[in-house]
Amino acid sequence: MPIEIVTPETNEAALRGENQAIKNHKDPQIQSLIDEMIAAMRERDGVGLAAPQVAKDLQLAVIETLGEFDEDDELIEGSRKLYVITNPQVIWQSRKRVVGIEGCLSLPGYLGEVERPYAVTVKCQDRFGRRKRLRLKGWDARIFQHEIDHLNGILYTDKLTSEDRFWSEEEYEEYRKQFEESAEMAEAQD
Ligand SMILES: [Zn+2]
Repeated sequence: MPIEIVTPETNEAALRGENQAIKNHKDPQIQSLIDEMIAAMRERDGVGLAAPQVAKDLQLAVIETLGEFDEDDELIEGSRKLYVITNPQVIWQSRKRVVGIEGCLSLPGYLGEVERPYAVTVKCQDRFGRRKRLRLKGWDARIFQHEIDHLNGILYTDKLTSEDRFWSEEEYEEYRKQFEESAEMAEAQD
């Protein structure tokens, strides 16, 4: 049975609480929690999952990047990268900011527009406690920031560019279709 992912309805306290630094990375319970989180993330086709989302108050998140696609839009094998981050801290962020559409396994069925720095440097430890410094940009940087926000009790809905830039998946499909149609019309008028 995969580990349960909590939502604001089922466990708001876990999502909004404080999370403890991991000191003993060798603890077998920590190691098996990490494996369970990776399985739960993959099971739900997610790109990230933070410990508070499975009701564990720990500075821990797992991330699997979107990967790279070839000219036929096929995922290039092996281009997705798995990260386990513990005790992370954003130590630098670019002045350049970009908007993007985010979802969250704790808010299933919804999407929202969030503006974030385009690039960040993250200081963290991996699953074995080894110290890392990661420079990330684009979608990778967005996913890392989203997960690190979780470790500070923040959800992406706290950071929407505006309240009406939040959609159910069905509403978003409609919105996107309209947007594409109007873009096509604009093109046809050129
Ligand atoms: Zn999330």
